[in-house]
Amino acid sequence: MSQATDTEAVDEDGVIESVSGPVVTATDLDARMNDVVYVGDEGLMGEVIEIEGNLTTIQVYEETSGVGPGEPVENTGEPLSVDLGPGMMDSIYDGVQRPLDVLEDKMGTAFLDRGVDAPGIDLEKEWEFTPEVEEGDAVEPGDVVGTVPETVTIEHKVMVPPDYEGGEITTIKSGEFTVEETVAELDSGEEIQMHQEWPVRQARPAGDKETPTEPLVTGQRVQDGLFPLAKGGTAAIPGPFGSGKTVTQQQLAKWSDADIVVYIGCGERGNEMTEVIEDFPELPDPQTGNPLMARTCLIANTSNMPVAARESCIYTGITIAEYYRDMGYDVALMADSTSRWAEAMREISSRLEEMPGEEGYPAYLAASLSEFYERAGKFELINGGEGSISVVGAVSPPGGDFSEPVTQNTLRIVKTFWALDADLAERRHFPSINWNESYSLYKDQLDPWWESNVAGDWSDVRQWAVDVLDEEDELQEIVQLVGKDALPEDQQLTLEVARYLREAWLQQNALHDVDTYCEPEKTYRMLQAIKTFNDEAFEALEAGVPVEEIQDVDATPRLNRMGTAEEWNEFIDEIESDLEEQLRALY
Ligand code: ADP
Repeated sequence: MSQATDTEAVDEDGVIESVSGPVVTATDLDARMNDVVYVGDEGLMGEVIEIEGNLTTIQVYEETSGVGPGEPVENTGEPLSVDLGPGMMDSIYDGVQRPLDVLEDKMGTAFLDRGVDAPGIDLEKEWEFTPEVEEGDAVEPGDVVGTVPETVTIEHKVMVPPDYEGGEITTIKSGEFTVEETVAELDSGEEIQMHQEWPVRQARPAGDKETPTEPLVTGQRVQDGLFPLAKGGTAAIPGPFGSGKTVTQQQLAKWSDADIVVYIGCGERGNEMTEVIEDFPELPDPQTGNPLMARTCLIANTSNMPVAARESCIYTGITIAEYYRDMGYDVALMADSTSRWAEAMREISSRLEEMPGEEGYPAYLAASLSEFYERAGKFELINGGEGSISVVGAVSPPGGDFSEPVTQNTLRIVKTFWALDADLAERRHFPSINWNESYSLYKDQLDPWWESNVAGDWSDVRQWAVDVLDEEDELQEIVQLVGKDALPEDQQLTLEVARYLREAWLQQNALHDVDTYCEPEKTYRMLQAIKTFNDEAFEALEAGVPVEEIQDVDATPRLNRMGTAEEWNEFIDEIESDLEEQLRALY
């Protein structure tokens, strides 16, 4: 959160009237909706969420036990804002953008004390600023005036803030500066520093949303191949406990071809978040070999923190994502899990005694969710460039029941749905993305990308796979009744092909060095190899070869090793020619 304005508390103090968990009411506070206030003697950070006459209701982002009536409430007069500037990459924040490592140094523990403040970005560190414009140049809001090497991977662009007027550059500096020092001056009198503030509940301005036509390549076959997400698209991952939500999100953070990753750990069980905080800084970035954190910002709200902070976590994350989007980057934002945020809304709403909607969630649940996902997209930027935010939200429906309100409302908004399945996870079929329930509405608009970058017949081959899996699904019902052997031979063969689609193609081991990432070409070639088996096998069947003999061909089981094959091109070439040769030899 911004420090600059903390000291400018202008308005008169109010007085606490009541405290109910994270919800505090105060009287005599001169405040507007969404103003940030400091509550109680300890100065806990909170936000105004309701004003009725002289009574102001505040949601507090820190634990309120021990805070009582009569204590003061101080208004900053400012909305909840984030401080945006170099240093956010490679940072781990809590829900109100306090860097966890800084707080840890201050307090000697990762669990935060109350009322401790720390600036979101380091105010003392000096950054090397290289100007991109010259004196006399005209600049408008959003224009880049210079760059800073933020991390080994990311070049930070210093931009004219969107709420500036812009004008002609009268002074531009070069060299090492702190984020608070002015690096450029405009004839309008405006001064540009390397950081800017932005209120989190307000989307940063951008031009029109464009139709996304490029996939966010995830390196996961089932996702890229069957249910692709576009750069600038929205996706949800619902799944019961243990079905692989965290692994899936982390695979995305690690392997997707986004420039920037913003990872929000929103109120998941404390130890899980600790795992993420400990694991991420160790992970290498497969794109560059540099640490993954060099292009990642983690926002970690553990469940030890009060529920209200989950909301600020989400808004802080999306605002940071927008800031990097404005630099022209493709940002991927993961939120794990949006259900915890929805539960926080439910709790606050019930403390406010609002009229409950479905299952006690507030009536505005759908609106809040869609406001969040709405900030995703591929945008034309105000400086004329392009940038995107892809948003992936995990949903944790209690008992894995997708009919509950958070899953249902999310479904109505997102265009890619990766439904994790407890049965598949139990059978150790990973990623446990259920191919019957999942979908992607981006398929058609991304096909041209696949066709020009991977293979001209991509959509036909994929459709073939979808049809086989559908047919398997129908045949399974019969198999359960009468057994596989009762089926005609061609249907038995279809089941065999479908088995390879599932085991050799859809399954992918995140824990295997090679299989953990699958480039689009490999995804295509693996699928094509299974189709080669299919085509050759059906030819053999038609020529009168019994299905058992076809199944016994020695090249087929090798299909299952394609995923883990390092020299996959050669490996697949060989399987294809062996399949052809061996199956043709049968007739
Ligand atoms: P959740 O977050 O839904 O509770 P996790 O992501 O922690 O579930 O996954 C549970 C376990 O399932 C993991 O510890 C791992 O062993 C296994 N798993 C999940 N996804 C994969 C995958 N893609 N490849 C291999 N194992 C996986």
